[in-house]
Amino acid sequence: MAKSKANGSIPNKHLYSRLSYLHQAAALLGSQIGNAPIPAPTAATPNNPEDKQELTSAQQMPAPSDQIRLNFTRHLLTELRATSLKSQIRLSPAIKHTICKYCDTILITGETSTVVVENKSKHAKKSWADVLVMKCNTCSRVKRFPIHGQRQKRRPNRTQTSTDAPERVSEQKQLDHAMADAA
Ligand SMILES: [Zn+2]
Repeated sequence: MAKSKANGSIPNKHLYSRLSYLHQAAALLGSQIGNAPIPAPTAATPNNPEDKQELTSAQQMPAPSDQIRLNFTRHLLTELRATSLKSQIRLSPAIKHTICKYCDTILITGETSTVVVENKSKHAKKSWADVLVMKCNTCSRVKRFPIHGQRQKRRPNRTQTSTDAPERVSEQKQLDHAMADAA
């Protein structure tokens, strides 16, 4: 791996820059999906494909269609994932939530993904059972995020005190009850 400098600067700074650039580029391209004019391929006559080739290779590049944008976005995010894996730089959850881990599509609500709130408790009575379900429109696979659940810490960051945390919570509750009774 690249050597890390000891003068206080961030090691492998260029890799962080690359990851950031790739994600920003993908997000920008993704944001243009659906709101930019799509070139009409019907204007070109399909019976002479040579003319069509000349058109596409000419200096005046046609505005990229949504499909091209989406494909390029996917390419950028594949690069992002590869860079992250190779350099062992962990992507932040916020960034990971915007990428489909199956097909590397950028997930933009309403454009490339559909978001629904699911509640599988009986008659959907338990509000804390709400789950945000993000479906990728490209590969139809889903990501699920509990809405009210607290995110568990990564294994190395979990402390031994987490096992006696419920006791503390119940102690705190008892204290709260006692105070409420006293009041
Ligand atoms: Zn997908």
